[in-house]
Amino acid sequence: MLNENMQKQFNDQLAIEFHSFYIYLGMSAWASSQSLHGMASWLSVQAKEELSHAMKIYNYILERDGEIQLKDLKRPEQNFSDPKALFAKVLEHEQFVTSSIYSLAASAQKENDFASSVFLQWFITEQVEEESNVRSVVEMLNRVETQQGLLYLDGKLVKRMAEK
Ligand code: MG
Repeated sequence: MLNENMQKQFNDQLAIEFHSFYIYLGMSAWASSQSLHGMASWLSVQAKEELSHAMKIYNYILERDGEIQLKDLKRPEQNFSDPKALFAKVLEHEQFVTSSIYSLAASAQKENDFASSVFLQWFITEQVEEESNVRSVVEMLNRVETQQGLLYLDGKLVKRMAEK
């Protein structure tokens, strides 16, 4: 069974993952409104991944006989000055998520909750990949100088496939 502290922290992380889904959905809607359909698709794949992270945590809490405590979803931002500003926020958000996973993992270690430590390994590895994916988009955007360049990159971003 999850102890009270771990249960609270897993529920906090559950809220962060659901909120991440919502944040990326808002971003995807903005990209659609700008006719950047590749970017919109990339961001909606990202949103769906966050939902799957949330459900992994949801199922884990139940598996450990914990209590699910759902929280309010804060309204996400839907206005961005340009794609560069948007992706800078994606990177910042992923770094925030990484730090929250790390504090969860640190608590699991402190509480001798070995099952949670093992469970969180997947998320630690996933965050390395998430940050790296986003960083590569940020870097490409930094090199884009023209509208044509942006449309070319947009066409590349549509190729991101949903992962399991
Ligand atoms: Mg996530």
